[in-house]
Amino acid sequence: MAELRFKALEEVFRRQPKIVKLPSNEVTDFFGQKAFDRPKMEKFLNKEAFQSVMTAISEGLSIDRKMADQIAIGMKAWAVGMGATHYTHWFHPLTDGTAEKHDGFIEFGELGNMIENFSGKLLVQQEPDASSFPSGGLRNTFEARGYTAWDVSSPAFIVDTTLCIPTVFVSYTGEALDYKAPLLKALSVIDLAAVDVCRYFDKSVSRVQANLGWEQEYFLIDDALYNARPDIILTGRTLMGHGSSKDQQLDDHYFGSIPERAGAFMKDFEIEAYKLGIPVKTRHNEVAPNQFECAPIFEEVNLANDHNQLIMDLMKRIARHHNFRVLFHEKPFAGINGSGKHNNWSLQTNTGVNLLSPGKNPKGNLQFLTFLVNVVKAVHDSQDLIRASILTAGNSHRLGANEAPPSIISVFLGSQLSSTLDEIVEKVSNGKMTPDEKTELKLGIGKIPEILLDNTDRNRTSPFAFTGNRFEFRAVGSSANCATAMIALNVAVADQLIQFKKEVDSLIEENVKKDEAIFQILKKYILASEKIRFEGDGYSEEWKKEAEKRGLSNINSVPASISKYLEESAKRVLIGNEIYKEKELIGRVDVEYEKFTKKIQIEARVLGDLVINHIIPTALSYQNKLIQNVQGMKEIFPASVYEELAGSRIELIKEMSSAVSIIKEHVKEMIEERRIANKITDERKKAFEYDSKVLPYFEKIRYQIDKLELTVDNEIWPLPKYRELLFTS
Ligand code: ADP
Ligand code: MG
Repeated sequence: MAELRFKALEEVFRRQPKIVKLPSNEVTDFFGQKAFDRPKMEKFLNKEAFQSVMTAISEGLSIDRKMADQIAIGMKAWAVGMGATHYTHWFHPLTDGTAEKHDGFIEFGELGNMIENFSGKLLVQQEPDASSFPSGGLRNTFEARGYTAWDVSSPAFIVDTTLCIPTVFVSYTGEALDYKAPLLKALSVIDLAAVDVCRYFDKSVSRVQANLGWEQEYFLIDDALYNARPDIILTGRTLMGHGSSKDQQLDDHYFGSIPERAGAFMKDFEIEAYKLGIPVKTRHNEVAPNQFECAPIFEEVNLANDHNQLIMDLMKRIARHHNFRVLFHEKPFAGINGSGKHNNWSLQTNTGVNLLSPGKNPKGNLQFLTFLVNVVKAVHDSQDLIRASILTAGNSHRLGANEAPPSIISVFLGSQLSSTLDEIVEKVSNGKMTPDEKTELKLGIGKIPEILLDNTDRNRTSPFAFTGNRFEFRAVGSSANCATAMIALNVAVADQLIQFKKEVDSLIEENVKKDEAIFQILKKYILASEKIRFEGDGYSEEWKKEAEKRGLSNINSVPASISKYLEESAKRVLIGNEIYKEKELIGRVDVEYEKFTKKIQIEARVLGDLVINHIIPTALSYQNKLIQNVQGMKEIFPASVYEELAGSRIELIKEMSSAVSIIKEHVKEMIEERRIANKITDERKKAFEYDSKVLPYFEKIRYQIDKLELTVDNEIWPLPKYRELLFTS
């Protein structure tokens, strides 16, 4: 059975890095070549059509049909010129990844001849059969139709020979069936809420855009080794495997020189990313062996998220050309770092001001403080919603599992900012501030040199850290669609800003001066959200205890975390701001429960199968060898010598027998628990059952297998070992 493993290793030893050439010396020569971006629209659309797209993008409007026809003509002309023969509406269903159904441009013309056609109707709307996408019971199969509608704000692009049109995916009764539709709503809510608050400081602000810069972490493993690990193939992670004697303890991988084969892969997918207009900028090794990161320059949230989804797809495909598989799972290997996708997030006005960047004058600084404090307060009030948006089956191994940071949401500001907030509380509490004091406070921020702010970031253990001119939401999982995190964060902050505006306005109505009113409410918020601020080591045991004392929640169970979506406070934020209708939210939560259940179900099956088909037969065959050996000894040695020599071997046989029995017993019990859980029809109950009854067997079974791996003859172990997965290639 070990044949596959050794053949795979042989293949890996023979691998050579591919040579990847840039299509041109200057990236700008081919950047955006495959995206229907602004310059291309200007070239391929008539003036009127171009104007209507531009207006639709800036005002968030839709396109009328007549205009759509004209745009479709231009878009098709460009796409066909680029070699496209098909088009698809590209969308983000509630599964992992994106979906597309390709249709050819060809149609029969009136004379029965073949023509190439692409009308405005096809550009604007399509009706994929929606019945096999998850909807949480929102869409009965008898009304299986959903429709996709063009998201004008994200440019169409070409992959291979298909023109891909970014779209939202909605049911016929108007419920969103995807991640993009609610994301666009959340972004529009924060736009309005933030503009209202900005106007305290600058009347010329009319639009606020949320920005996202994601940092995508991933592992690379060799194709051949991947193919010899059914657990990785089917679940994206190793369900067993003893830790390698050497892993990341020497810290020699992080920022080390990039291995040649991996480097060639990176170059290759980056070139394709550039062509699609994805501004990838940073690449480096990560902490664990064979772990890497890719980060672009930040963009508007919706576009950035499309680009993230697109690049994940691209990486998976290009990896194959280099005999690699890319693993986006949050925890492919136990005992070493998992993968995240830090979401760097900020708000920016149409006047070019980053609202999370300290200003250069007192007015700008009060605006900065206002946004900063409101974000902290929003994260405090919506900590459970924010966690619910990122805690999935995969990510739970990164957050809250034994070796990972706890699942507590806290905010890191850095000592300087933190003390500035405390100072505000103190000064405002001491009664009315003099104009000098106010100016001094506001200026206090401006005095913090930028370098220093940037360095405040070196606390890497915080799930939500201020890093000088943005917040870095680090708890997001590497396989995630950033939309869920961005929906929760943006709408939570928007809701908070709306609240803030109301409170300040009512003070102003009572004749309190504007600045004074703002300071008073900020003070109130700083105090109310104080307990979410934490500057220490977020991974430590002490923090767990401290957080509990402070009354912060620490939820490790995925279903328990998901259930927070339906708590009153979350519903108020999500439904109150019209991101979801109640029915939609309930449906979506059901989808989340179901996804969790299915992931655990699949893992349990794969684990069971591997145990029965790979591990136990291997253990038994080694055991038989030992038994033969002992029998042989008995034949050739006199009894006294035999007893002395055979003792330890017999002990080993006993140990292995007992391990095999324990494993078998656990697997039997696990299957029984699954059988019980599968009968439950309520998605919520089923998820909780899987979480509390099935999941706990994984660790117990794995522990025994990993012990066997150390005992059994290396020559017959069937699965590539950690040292092979992590250190060859
Ligand atoms: P680090 O690993 O030190 O956090 P990286 O350079 O790897 O930094 O990634 C930082 C990410 O944050 C990049 O995508 C970058 O474009 C993004 N970023 C920088 N400034 C902002 C901002 N104001 N708003 C949102 N994202 C930002
Ligand atoms: Mg970062």
